[in-house]
Amino acid sequence: MDNLLKNCRLCPRQCGINRYENTGYCGVGEEILGAKACLHQWEEPCISYRNGAGTVFFSGCSLHCCFCQNAPISNEIKGKAITVRQLSEVFLRLQEQGADSIELVTPTHYVLQIISALDMVKHRLGIPVIWNSGGYELPETIRLLDGYIDVYLPDIKYFSSDISAKYSNAPDYFEYSSAAVLRMINQAGKLVYNDQGGLIRGTVIRHLVLPSHRHDSMKILDWIAENTTPETALLSLMSQYTPFDGIPDSCSELRRRITKMEYNSVVRHAQDLGLDGFIQEKASASADYVPDFDFSGLPE
Ligand code: SF4
Repeated sequence: MDNLLKNCRLCPRQCGINRYENTGYCGVGEEILGAKACLHQWEEPCISYRNGAGTVFFSGCSLHCCFCQNAPISNEIKGKAITVRQLSEVFLRLQEQGADSIELVTPTHYVLQIISALDMVKHRLGIPVIWNSGGYELPETIRLLDGYIDVYLPDIKYFSSDISAKYSNAPDYFEYSSAAVLRMINQAGKLVYNDQGGLIRGTVIRHLVLPSHRHDSMKILDWIAENTTPETALLSLMSQYTPFDGIPDSCSELRRRITKMEYNSVVRHAQDLGLDGFIQEKASASADYVPDFDFSGLPE
């Protein structure tokens, strides 16, 4: 672990910095910064099916999207420092509280610390571990997670490199996210459910429809239809995009919600392609989905 952090190339940014001395594009060094740990009810029905996912929100991010709804923790890097052992104890505490799963949100830059924490307690966890990421990942980093992660919940945010360059400074986003998703599917295998309808193995690909970009959304759906099967991957189509005050002038087209027409056309495309999964109701788009990052659930 030490060597990989001393020359960090864990995500496509490949900063090559020593995280014991510096912070990289993700904004964090070697220390784990958490934002909140709680039971989270708002995930897909097969993820939050009983008491809610036992979610750990991490601070920092390798994407820094200009419309990020979690900007205080992703871009401003507000977080509470916790040790690997404390993180493993958080996992056990969430399980004791009745969590349906352990859900790791924006975890990529902490992959090594998370593996160490899981090494301490995975044998005591009777619930699946979920990797909920922005999708901008290296397949070789996903390979490190083999045997640790049961369910992958990645985004595919953009198809066009112009759009990903503009909003996330990542012209290579689709190239990496599509390769990472295929690696995740290969690792997680076929979808497996428990007797309560909870997903205990497999991959769910999330896509949030953005204002003015429904045709980009459709290209992502085309790729999913061509490259995955209903036995191994579900689609989760999301309508909840909510603009926040800090969107820059250069991205002013994102200062509105999506219209019914935009969303319905993407939904129709998913249905025409026969994609299986979840389609969020347009009416449920709300800022309520953004939790209050108050560091609750983390050690004092
Ligand atoms: S994880 Fe952070 S430091 Fe490492 S390559 Fe990615 S952005 Fe850079």
